Amino acid sequence: MAIKRLVMKFGGTSVGSGERIRGVAEIVKAHRARETVVVVSAMSTVTNQLVDVAQEAINGITEEDIKDFARRLKEKHARAIRVAVAREHQGPPLQEVERLSTELEKVLVGISYVGELTPRSMDYVLSFGERMSAPILSGALKSQGIESSWFSGYEAGIVTDSSFGKANPLWAKTNRKIKRVLGRRTERGEVPVVTGFVAGDEKGRITTLSRGGSDFSAAIIGSALKADEIWIWTDVDGVYTTDPRMVKQARTIDVISFAEAMELAYFGARVLHPKTIEPAMEKDIPVRVRNTFKPEHRGTLIVREQKKIKEIVKAVTVLDDCALLTISGVGMIGVPGVAARVFTALAAEKVNIMMISQGSSEVNISLVVEKGDLNRAIRTIKKTFPGKDIVKDVTYDKDIAVIAVIGAGMRGTKGVAARVFRAAADAGVNVLMIAQGSSEVNISFVVAAKDAKKGVVALHKEFIAE
Ligand code: ADP
Ligand code: ASP
Ligand code: MG
Repeated sequence: MAIKRLVMKFGGTSVGSGERIRGVAEIVKAHRARETVVVVSAMSTVTNQLVDVAQEAINGITEEDIKDFARRLKEKHARAIRVAVAREHQGPPLQEVERLSTELEKVLVGISYVGELTPRSMDYVLSFGERMSAPILSGALKSQGIESSWFSGYEAGIVTDSSFGKANPLWAKTNRKIKRVLGRRTERGEVPVVTGFVAGDEKGRITTLSRGGSDFSAAIIGSALKADEIWIWTDVDGVYTTDPRMVKQARTIDVISFAEAMELAYFGARVLHPKTIEPAMEKDIPVRVRNTFKPEHRGTLIVREQKKIKEIVKAVTVLDDCALLTISGVGMIGVPGVAARVFTALAAEKVNIMMISQGSSEVNISLVVEKGDLNRAIRTIKKTFPGKDIVKDVTYDKDIAVIAVIGAGMRGTKGVAARVFRAAADAGVNVLMIAQGSSEVNISFVVAAKDAKKGVVALHKEFIAE
């Protein structure tokens, strides 16, 4: 079946230089469908540099340093323009990059004067990466004879709540606006280039979708436009059986289900932002992960269901940006609703709970939360249970990692858990906590951070490849 409507997203390394941006434009030209939208990340390393400079701005860097930073960023992008964009199309992106670098300089000087970096101003600073790369790719497309203009995520229609740093789309508004803004252009045969990661709240203030969020931007747009497919172009051959940088035996997966891919992304496989799959799954839009540096490779296809499942375990992941929190007290025994109160209070404070386990003795409840949420979680629990009658202690461990073993083939296969924990034990990995989701698509467990790699290697070897 020919693809009529396609959303393609290109990650940071894929647009890491002028040469690469030119290569991306060629890929778009070769693969475009009748209606195509392109989503683009910041050039590689730029977002990290923006994080650093924003933090330095409140730690006393000089105005000179800020000017210097903005100038270097402008030059990096101007160089890319000169390589990727034909001379007759260089004007608009060059002017935009110039304008943005002046704006960035003012924002950073402002932050340094106030001496305070709020999540809102952080998002403003971070947005410059994508806002500078999008005009370049759009110009590169024009140079290939493709009609194109660029949009920020907000201009394209992504309206979010005001959770700066990890904003969520307001779906009804977003869907409507995207169709209006982008739909009209793609129908005319234009290829709009949209900044990934960057959106705006209802007041038009810049928000971001959390780090790595360009994948999510592509899924939001694909879902609003009811695309036939969403393609995530990145720097590896597809979704691997485990992080290829950590385990050299990792292999690409040909086909994987939405449910499996969702678990994989949620439990640390950086190749997909955790929120990418849900919108695609809801509209039943296949997602493909492909390599910009090897466009001939077919990559990984993510679909609703896989017809024949051979493998019991498809992938092993590790999540390390998390902490283990243990709430204990004999007072919890027999008091109904303690767990419910804990979860309600944490949900109200927007603490993301990754795993839960409660022993049958009820003396303690263990939770895994994102590291960034840990202090807020502790404060909330102490406030919810003042005194020592019910909850006596709240302890935590930041040096942990979660290993997840994922595969729809585990469903109904006996003895998988036993094999998982025997393999971990044989590798000398001590298991601190276990959780199995009710979907049976994953078994996840907590280990000491120092044991994480050893555990992943052992499990990959046990189930996937020597
Ligand atoms: P992009 O900039 O294209 O969004 P990312 O760096 O965010 O790329 O994601 C791609 C990287 O994810 C790969 O280079 C790889 O190191 C890492 N990765 C971690 N786990 C996996 C996995 N299971 N499959 C593929 N890549 C993975
Ligand atoms: N540029 C953003 C980041 O580095 C978003 C992305 O690349 O997906 O987090
Ligand atoms: Mg990414």
